Amino acid sequence: MSGTKEHALAKAARETAGVVLSECYQCGKCTAGCPMARYMDLSPNQIMRLAQAGDDAALERLLGCEALWYCVGCLTCAQRCPRKLDPAAVMDLLREMAHRRGKIPAAARKVLAFHKAFLDTVEHGGRMAEIPLVLRYKMKSLDLLGDVMLGPVMLAKRKLPLLPHRIRGRGEVRRIFKKCREEHRP
Ligand code: SF4
Ligand code: SF4
Repeated sequence: MSGTKEHALAKAARETAGVVLSECYQCGKCTAGCPMARYMDLSPNQIMRLAQAGDDAALERLLGCEALWYCVGCLTCAQRCPRKLDPAAVMDLLREMAHRRGKIPAAARKVLAFHKAFLDTVEHGGRMAEIPLVLRYKMKSLDLLGDVMLGPVMLAKRKLPLLPHRIRGRGEVRRIFKKCREEHRP
């Protein structure tokens, strides 16, 4: 760490994501390998640059960007970084901040609906199950007709099991979710 005073985002990135923002030298290798970069309004290296700045204007731009919600967590960026930094972890941190402040861009609401539907499905069933996931996603996103024609095709190809798999320890999974909720209560 340099002798200059760390701003709040740099401190949070170091403490919670293990990333020293000042070590990014903007080579762009993270962006070059990112499979989602073409859909993002800010590329991973631009996110790192704005996070380095860390002032109010930069934070405003970061928390309002769609890119945070398009990251699929593949970690290619972290693997490619010559400084061993983890831009995806910084994006996780920013996504949490944006969520806490209710700053969800309109284009990202379906992504958030999917995240919530996924977690609810795992919490209630103990594991992922396709049909409950789709139903929850449809209810949360209100996108009732989108991709609806894919259903019969997937059923025909046996990609949508009609009966959920029974697993042991569903109560334990629910307890994990409950504990996480208690620990992250504001
Ligand atoms: S690959 Fe690493 S050093 Fe290069 S821009 Fe991305 S985060 Fe910064
Ligand atoms: S983890 Fe996210 S930012 Fe990193 S390469 Fe994958 S999609 Fe891109």
